[in-house]
Amino acid sequence: MSRSLLITNARAVTLAGPTSPRTGPALQDLAILPRADILIENGLIASISPSPLPTPHSPPPSSTIDAAGRVLLPAFIDCHSHACWAGDRIDEWQRKLRGVPYLEILKSGGGIMSTVRAVRAASESQLRELLDLRLNAMLRCGSATVEVKSGYGLSTAAELKMLRVIRTAADHAARSTGQTVIPTALLGHAIDPDIPNFVDTVINETLPAVHAEFPGITIDAFCEQGAWSLADCLRLFDRALSLGHPLRIHADQFNSLGMIPEAIRRHARSVDHLEASTEADLDLLAASDSFGVILPACGFHVDGRYAKVRRFLDRGGKLALATNYNPGSAPTPSIPFAMALAARHGGLSIPETFHAAISNPANLLNLSDRAQITPGMRADLLLLRTTDERSLAYEVGHSPIDSIFIAGRPL
Ligand SMILES: [Zn+2]
Repeated sequence: MSRSLLITNARAVTLAGPTSPRTGPALQDLAILPRADILIENGLIASISPSPLPTPHSPPPSSTIDAAGRVLLPAFIDCHSHACWAGDRIDEWQRKLRGVPYLEILKSGGGIMSTVRAVRAASESQLRELLDLRLNAMLRCGSATVEVKSGYGLSTAAELKMLRVIRTAADHAARSTGQTVIPTALLGHAIDPDIPNFVDTVINETLPAVHAEFPGITIDAFCEQGAWSLADCLRLFDRALSLGHPLRIHADQFNSLGMIPEAIRRHARSVDHLEASTEADLDLLAASDSFGVILPACGFHVDGRYAKVRRFLDRGGKLALATNYNPGSAPTPSIPFAMALAARHGGLSIPETFHAAISNPANLLNLSDRAQITPGMRADLLLLRTTDERSLAYEVGHSPIDSIFIAGRPL
């Protein structure tokens, strides 16, 4: 017998519309049905109609939930995270709070290389256990779909280890909770001073090894002073493109090195960070087919600087927001927190935060089977405690989410 669930009397934030990127005035429209009944069958939305249904559903659903006017919306899609890591950076953060300069922290073994050492030392099962805990934390914050990057291995063996752990965790999540996990190979995250000719090694050894085992996986890099230079990123990208890999790029977090025009030229799926982007570059990005992704938890945790994207949005830019969940610059699994920050510091309207956290990241990750409450879509849904969807971006410090449904199954 088929499994069915009827949710009645919901304020349905449907986000109904095309599965293509939402831009411009379309970002203001959440396609809300103030009182709706939503029928879910076999994990998919079967129907949505104004409450009450004209005739009782036949046969009666397996179970019914009365939403009592509370908000029902599609679950979040966190399109940028580094949730696979070992060790922690809390001591380092405490030193930073006491005013120790970052360079001194780096010299004493802190910073990203401390996470790299911990990841290399961890076994696959230890890494897997840590990743499972974090995926669950992200799910509890409403992210039914998450992207997870490698990038703390740096060596060929350690990058492959991370990607295998992410793939195994993804298989397990799909079978257990139903959460969708999408891996990205962040091969250009940092420069390992102990590996001779590190960039050449990544391009000539790590990338082909990743290509052999993970064909078609998205390749990512961190273009920044002290990390990967523009020229080195482009060498990696051109080789990756020739092997058929899509591209994403971390750019302009602290310094603008000129990556945006090059990323656009190579049809990168997205350019992520944008805190230090020039207005001219943001205008180019807005007119391109690449997404901009903002990661406002970095501004909160690191230095109070946020990407300002009002003009980018007004010029038709394709925007997503994400947690960037990682131990160094964004220790949060929460998309609602990122929405709260984006509304306060990024220049987004409240409806724009919803599309940036749901419909647009679905398109960025090539997922056309979710992110709206319309017939045929996956029933990855969130039921809030509140009757006002704006509470998601308004409230901070606790979760306004009451229940989470993955493919129609309550968590
Ligand atoms: Zn990142």
